[in-house]
Amino acid sequence: MSINLKLEKPSLYALTLVELRDYLAEKGLAKFAADQIYQWMYKFHERDLSKWSNISKKIREDFENNFDLTLPTVVWNGLSKDGTRKFLVKMRDGQTVEAVAIPAKDRLTLCISSQVGCAIGCTFCHTGTMGLKRNLLADEIVGQFLAITDWLKANVSTEEKLTNIVFMGQGEPLHNYDNVRSATIIFMEDKGLGLSQRKITLSTSGLVPQIEKMWDFPPVNIAISLHAAHNDIRSELMPINKAFDLQRLFEAIRKVPLKAYRRITYEYILIADLNDRQEDIDGLCDLLEKSKSKINIIPYNDFPDSKFKRPSNSKIIWFQEELLKRGFVCTTRTTKGQDILAACGQLKSEYEKLNLWDTNKSKAFEMQFSK
Ligand code: SF4
Repeated sequence: MSINLKLEKPSLYALTLVELRDYLAEKGLAKFAADQIYQWMYKFHERDLSKWSNISKKIREDFENNFDLTLPTVVWNGLSKDGTRKFLVKMRDGQTVEAVAIPAKDRLTLCISSQVGCAIGCTFCHTGTMGLKRNLLADEIVGQFLAITDWLKANVSTEEKLTNIVFMGQGEPLHNYDNVRSATIIFMEDKGLGLSQRKITLSTSGLVPQIEKMWDFPPVNIAISLHAAHNDIRSELMPINKAFDLQRLFEAIRKVPLKAYRRITYEYILIADLNDRQEDIDGLCDLLEKSKSKINIIPYNDFPDSKFKRPSNSKIIWFQEELLKRGFVCTTRTTKGQDILAACGQLKSEYEKLNLWDTNKSKAFEMQFSK
């Protein structure tokens, strides 16, 4: 458990099942109770210790004294016309992050944040303009999922369940390696939430030293934010490319232990007149191995005053078809939630700009984006 915040008590939600068993054993408490405790926390969503009927008083008293069981709180939500829901979630120290629930035919994916702000500074990203404020703790990452699960149950329907997770919200997950790793282990624990490895995707901007140590990371899906096949353009979009260029990035990617038949997804934000040319298609073909790659084209999501523009629809279709013709698995992601500022970091910026802790302004903001 790594804590880098000065909080009165650590959260019980930061402990993996193994860490919980170790804690109980160290305290001379019944270690076998860990499985039942996990059920109360993750299956029954019960945070009132007095209701944990099959857990000894001794354990409950110990937890009362040593752990916090509060979850982050949803302070704002907006519903897009396409069904995407965006949430602003407040942590115990008052910092806020965004999470987005994206519906598809047979799933409801939660895009979660791993940091408050981000140090990577991608030039197409709103969060990149904020700088890094701090890492989220494992419990704050898990807490986004739990708080939104409870919110959906209370406000939408008891049937509305999150099924998948993508680490694509604010922050670079591998820059917060230990907390993201612990949270992923907690998400996958059978005794708790029990999400399978195929339902979790970790997306990275290409932090090479961390990619190289991913051998100890649970075997979830990997997505790499590629966005350009040439170093000069990638460095313009992602300053991290100046430290770890495409050659170093792909040397590291080749070492990622991929399970048989798994592909790495390469995210490619398509920007008008920058990376949507024939030479960009040729560059991708040189860089990527067809059998181990999937390209996901994301047409750029304009925001007020944004430096880049979205390509025309015909250009987007052409780009995808060219890659398909060359034998790549290639999809184009429909832009979701444009009417609720769903691009990374936009909501938080607007929220802070308008000082939306003021209830009246908050209501006005909500009305503006929930129509
Ligand atoms: S795109 Fe991701 S890695 Fe890049 S600045 Fe935004 S949050 Fe950070």
